[in-house]
Amino acid sequence: MAKTISINAGSSSLKWQLYQMPDEKVLAKGIVERIGLKDSIFTVKYGNGEKFEIITDILEHDLAVQKLLEALIQLKIITDYKEITGVGHRIVAGGEIFKESVVINDDVLAKIEALADLAPLHNSANAAGIKAFKKVLPDIVSVGVFDTAFHATMPEVAYRYGIPKEYYEKHQARKYGAHGTSHDYVANEAAKLLGKSVTDLKLITAHIGNGASITAVCHGKSIDTSMSFTPLAGVMMGTRSGDLDPSLIPYLMEKTGISDIKEMTEILNKKSGLLGVSGISSDMREIIEARKSGNSDAKLAFDMFSDRIRKYIAQYFAVLNGADAVVFTAGIGENSNWVRSEIINQMTWFGIAIDEVKNVARAKGIISTEDSKVKVLVIPTDEELMIPRDVEKLKNYS
Ligand code: ADP
Repeated sequence: MAKTISINAGSSSLKWQLYQMPDEKVLAKGIVERIGLKDSIFTVKYGNGEKFEIITDILEHDLAVQKLLEALIQLKIITDYKEITGVGHRIVAGGEIFKESVVINDDVLAKIEALADLAPLHNSANAAGIKAFKKVLPDIVSVGVFDTAFHATMPEVAYRYGIPKEYYEKHQARKYGAHGTSHDYVANEAAKLLGKSVTDLKLITAHIGNGASITAVCHGKSIDTSMSFTPLAGVMMGTRSGDLDPSLIPYLMEKTGISDIKEMTEILNKKSGLLGVSGISSDMREIIEARKSGNSDAKLAFDMFSDRIRKYIAQYFAVLNGADAVVFTAGIGENSNWVRSEIINQMTWFGIAIDEVKNVARAKGIISTEDSKVKVLVIPTDEELMIPRDVEKLKNYS
């Protein structure tokens, strides 16, 4: 049976999962952290809950890949590298070029690197992961799966900005979205749960984790999404501000004396959102705890978080002209019944209502009341799984 490895390479980390295909069984998974630094952490989980961990210096992605392949043999997860028939790479920005997953050749790799303008940290790291695998296992098929591809179906009216058109034409300044594989996956799982074809449904998918985005999915296709040119836009998140008035940026730079725009965008990406408003944490569990103990900043952060998501969901009722279901997924969406009810309970005018018993009890399934016109679903996401699936689809086309 084929074994496929999925890779999610960051600038200093490499997450991976080894699947047996086509039955989609996870044989092992792991993460290499602190690549490029001393004392990198190399972890593998496999078998029946076994764990292998070493701390060693891994200075480059090449070495991380080499170590992970060696570990697969050493831990007897595979007996020969030949068992691995494909590798799939998660790539953050596909720009206007990649509207679906592709087999990676030299030309594709060059284009992925050129798209680093749109996601500077991510695409360069993704490319490093691709090159590392090509070096160590040159003969296996390599597939790129793009975070943006699911949103390639957005109409121009949704993806263009109200700015001079040459900025779009010359510099591709437009909305691209993100979390595409997750929105795609949960939309299809929602259809299965509702016993319908996804092509017959209008869905609003809410991926709410540390990063968060909301998507309007019409008949299986994304027609609008809250993240935009980069993942900074849309709803307020763990550390990202979400939407704000662009005029605020020069104003704040002048007032604070920050002269480097990179420093300012870093603040909006890493020090804002739940963390910035609460001054406590970017982690929703800690915000909920602090709120319970009466911290007013935590209460405000929680309320703003829910408010922004609620407003995007309301927008997408208009974009879709009504929806069959709202789907919650990712760390917060899957686990926090409190956030879900906070968002939905103020939207009953839309004909949507949560059954609190189901909301508290269910980790997966329908949590709306019997007579709710719009269903509410909780679906655990599995972004990783879309990668080996696409490798399987494409591996005979290399
Ligand atoms: P990422 O975007 O990093 O993949 P996740 O999807 O893992 O993020 O979501 C992480 C978030 O989920 C954190 O804010 C965490 O506090 C939150 N979370 C996880 N479990 C719960 C829970 N039981 N209640 C509330 N929030 C939770």
